[in-house]
Amino acid sequence: MSKRLNCAISSITYFNTDTRRVVLDLPKGETLSFKAGQYLEIILPGKRCPFSIANSPHDTGSIELHVRPTPSSEDSVKIEALLDSADKIEINGPKGDCYIESSPHKTLILLAASTGITQMKSLYEYLMHLGHKGKVFLYWGVLADSDLYLDELCKAWAQENKAFEYIPVVSEPDTSPNWSGRTGLVGNSVLEDFEDLANVVVYVSGGPGMVYATLDSFVAHGLSEANMYSDVFSYAPRSP
Ligand SMILES: Cc1cc2nc3c(=O)[nH]c(=O)nc-3n(C[C@H](O)[C@H](O)[C@H](O)COP(=O)(O)OP(=O)(O)OC[C@H]3O[C@@H](n4cnc5c(N)ncnc54)[C@H](O)[C@@H]3O)c2cc1C
Repeated sequence: MSKRLNCAISSITYFNTDTRRVVLDLPKGETLSFKAGQYLEIILPGKRCPFSIANSPHDTGSIELHVRPTPSSEDSVKIEALLDSADKIEINGPKGDCYIESSPHKTLILLAASTGITQMKSLYEYLMHLGHKGKVFLYWGVLADSDLYLDELCKAWAQENKAFEYIPVVSEPDTSPNWSGRTGLVGNSVLEDFEDLANVVVYVSGGPGMVYATLDSFVAHGLSEANMYSDVFSYAPRSP
């Protein structure tokens, strides 16, 4: 059950030039029971804006969000102004049915576009808390290498866990002259690495266009549609 809470902003720090880490304290005596991969809504007058919860549910006490401005979005301007000035924000949550409660038995592919990494951070940290031993591949697609604001953390996960692979992918390498890693669309990188997707489970975080294009191309490579999970399927269902 979701609930409305007025949370104090505990801290706000910049990861890079535009993405902020926002830590919220729950009101005294309150708890927020959520599942790894769920999101909450920041409440603005007349509007609710969804943001993935970046921490794992076992990490209780505070809520971590990663907030990036969306160019030419009025709501994003309001969110930025709120974060610049407020010491409290009202949230509603948890929301979403794209989550993990137990270790999957198949190889797991986490595919994030931009700040979609937030949801994957929660999922991965929760799986590690559960003692998950299976293979996990994290593909993170960004426009420029400067958008890889959790690069160090993801590399540290790969150092600690031999069953985990981190594959960052830059889609506009012209803007990243020092980038020597993978390039192109993040979904295509998965298809380059996996000939057959029959035995994997995929979690995808991104906009509807990206998620549905990924679904179609992965199904054409053997993925069962039931093995792909994304919030998009609920908030932007494809018309029949
Ligand atoms: C389920 C969900 C989770 C989100 N989590 C975050 C987050 O952790 N950090 C953040 O900066 N923004 C996140 N967003 C985007 C954020 O809600 C909007 O940028 C904000 O509400 C401003 O409104 P808008 O008019 O630009 O977006 P809207 O017009 O309301 O559209 C939302 C758009 O957000 C994009 N989106 C979908 N999922 C994600 C995601 N996980 N991360 C980023 N963008 C996404 C899609 O392109 C979608 O079309 C999320 C959006 C959704 C739907």
